[in-house]
Formats: sequence, C-alpha cells, structure tokens
Amino acid sequence: MQTFNITPVAFMQSPYEEKFAIPRQPGLVPAAKGAVKLNGEFNNPHMIEGIEAFSHLWLQFVFHQTLDKGWKPKVRPPRLGGNAKVGVFATRSTFRPNGLGLSVVKLEGVSQHQGQWQLDVSGFDLLDQTPIVDIKPYIGYSDALPHSNSGFASDAPTLMTVTFAPEVALRLNHNPEFAELIRQVLAQDPRPAYRKSDTDQHVYGMRLARQNVNWQVIDNQAVVTSLSDC
Ligand code: SAH
Repeated sequence: MQTFNITPVAFMQSPYEEKFAIPRQPGLVPAAKGAVKLNGEFNNPHMIEGIEAFSHLWLQFVFHQTLDKGWKPKVRPPRLGGNAKVGVFATRSTFRPNGLGLSVVKLEGVSQHQGQWQLDVSGFDLLDQTPIVDIKPYIGYSDALPHSNSGFASDAPTLMTVTFAPEVALRLNHNPEFAELIRQVLAQDPRPAYRKSDTDQHVYGMRLARQNVNWQVIDNQAVVTSLSDC
C-alpha cells in the first residue's frame, strides 16, 4: 500500500485545551482567538508573503488527540442525535482513515514574536497544539456554494441561552471577551446527545483558556456556576 509522509508546517495555539466543548465546526464561535505558529523550516516569512490579502484560510490538520482510536466505516454524528449511523465519508467525524481535519478560519493578521511567525486567526474548532499540515487561502468565488445541499447538517445548530451565576458574572466583569467566549461555546450545547434530556442534573466542566468552567443546564438554559484557575 502506498504511504506518504507529512510534516506539520505549524502548530495551533488555541484556548480549547480539551476536546470536550470545542465547537463541532469552525465559524460557530467567532470569539475564539488563537494563532497558527509556523514550525521549524516553515517558520519563514517568505512562505506567508501576501497572505494578509485573504480574509479566511483553510487549515488542514491532524486529529492528533484521537489518532490512536483509529477509524470506523460507520459513525454516529451528534447532529443525528447520536444514534443513527452513517458512512464515515458522509460525516466530518474525527474517527476517519488518516485522521485529517479541514476548517475555514478567519485571518485576523500576521505577526512575529522574537523570530516566531504566526497567523492570528479566529473562529476555529481546533484543539490547542493541533499539528497543521497545510494552509491555503479561502477563495470565495469558488469555495462558497450558497445553493449546496448539506444533508443532515443543513442548518446551523440552534443556540442555547447562557447565563452566569452572580459570583461568576462578577469575576468576568473585567474580562468581557472571555465572558463572550464562554457564552458562544456553551450556546452550542456541547453535551453528548444522550444527556440532552429534561432531567439532566449533571455538572459539566471544561478547560478553556487556562480556566475551569463549570455549568449546569437548568430549564433548557446553560448556567455557568463556577470559574477557577486550572
Ligand atoms: N472542521 C473540521 C473538524 C470537525 S470535527 C473538519 O470538518 O474536518 C470538530 C471536532 O474536532 C471538535 O469538536 C473537536 O472535538 C475535535 N478536534 C479538534 N482538534 C482536534 C485534535 N487535534 N485532535 C482530535 N480532535 C480534535
């Protein structure tokens, strides 16, 4: 069988420090700000010359945290309630042969810190430290297909209302950007499908931007109950 070697051209710096609660596609959480840090011999400003002219980029990356779990010919997409199975190639599941992901992200700018070049991006769905294997400009006239049919994922998921307990709101007073990031992440309702019942009393936790964020779903609203340093 033919094989190919791929080398990361960059690594992602992201506030998403664990898989749980990462949005399921890019564009859903514009408040997520991060950077694509060019790696090794690719940390070369010549390789990104002209890229600022593009508002969005395609990132191809390795689902490095789930590679060891392999792949399955059929998977259960969360959008189908987590029960119905479809072919892996009919989904964007992480459990696929070669474990490659593909996301469109917004390019906020290019910057350099002590010789380390980076693309400042937002709205991504990538875990911190994700290896990026290619970067390409998004080309609207060809890549945007407004009349396409998106099967079981034809509409963006409905959003959940998010509120903050008074002590959490107080803590977030000085950091409205982080409050907005939490709000947009939880509005996606990251709970696994089997938990989405009226009687769900579970306290959920996620690590986001070096903070532990806890929340519960009460009357179909996400209530952030506590926030602490990791
Ligand atoms: N837009 C991409 C990814 C869709 S799956 C594509 O279509 O290929 C999105 C999920 O990938 C996220 O919810 C997150 O849980 C998972 N993910 C992101 N980065 C990952 C990584 N480095 N390793 C494993 N899973 C990752």
